[in-house]
Amino acid sequence: MSLLELKDLHVALEDGTEIVKGVDLAVDTDQVHAVMGPNGSGKSTLAYALMGHPSYEITQGQIFFDGDDVTEVGADQRAQRGLFLAFQYPHAVPGVTVTSFLRSAINAIRKAKAGGEDDPIPVKEFRTELLAAMDRLKVPRELASRYLNEGFSGGEKKRVEILQMAMLKPRIAVLDETDSGLDIDALRIVARGVQDLVGPEMGALVITHYQRILDHIEPDFVHVFVGGRIVEEGGPELAKELEAKGYEAYAEVEA
Ligand code: ADP
Ligand code: MG
Repeated sequence: MSLLELKDLHVALEDGTEIVKGVDLAVDTDQVHAVMGPNGSGKSTLAYALMGHPSYEITQGQIFFDGDDVTEVGADQRAQRGLFLAFQYPHAVPGVTVTSFLRSAINAIRKAKAGGEDDPIPVKEFRTELLAAMDRLKVPRELASRYLNEGFSGGEKKRVEILQMAMLKPRIAVLDETDSGLDIDALRIVARGVQDLVGPEMGALVITHYQRILDHIEPDFVHVFVGGRIVEEGGPELAKELEAKGYEAYAEVEA
């Protein structure tokens, strides 16, 4: 069994509209999966449902993480188990600095791992890791003491999402359109930041509309996602094919 498995996953909005209509997907460490689809196909809905967002209801099917059924498990517990989502639209958290947010998130995960006992990361270790990760991802030092995402540019938000990922060391990272709003240099830095972490400890699910981020993060598997369903699957060549021919061919199948 893969680390993350979705089985016939259906997701509905609060008003009952079904957006994700039966997705089967298996993602393991040391793998990069790309989910590519047009706007409005339900990619973010899929990502939110994976993370356990309360506004997105799983109406059918299951999510397994490390062999356990986590379909009904809350977002905090999914994070503690090692699932991470980099948001398409990161929210500002006024009053909470990037540093204190990261420290709290790391300590929550450490506490869960220690069976509920507090096990805070030593201050020096935290600081050393944070500075190294910030340098690697070219996140300006001054951002560390600012309120999370408040007044950040689009590119800064995305870099700070990847900084969170680097610090939290998830086992599966879900990246929802991390490429949107990034210029080419920022895209390269962010993509390298992800690529560096993919390995025996981590796998990634890269959700994207365009194939350009995949020039920097080579996917092992590509899943074409249209109308809430995976309509085609293949290797990296499929991403390039899609870039050339677009999603129209699939849109007809949907209707
Ligand atoms: P994508 O990420 O592929 O662009 P989304 O998952 O964001 O697609 O959206 C899929 C559909 O679900 C769209 O029609 C969108 O308007 C709708 N939708 C998603 N989330 C919500 C929400 N919280 N409230 C209302 N409609 C939503
Ligand atoms: Mg989206």
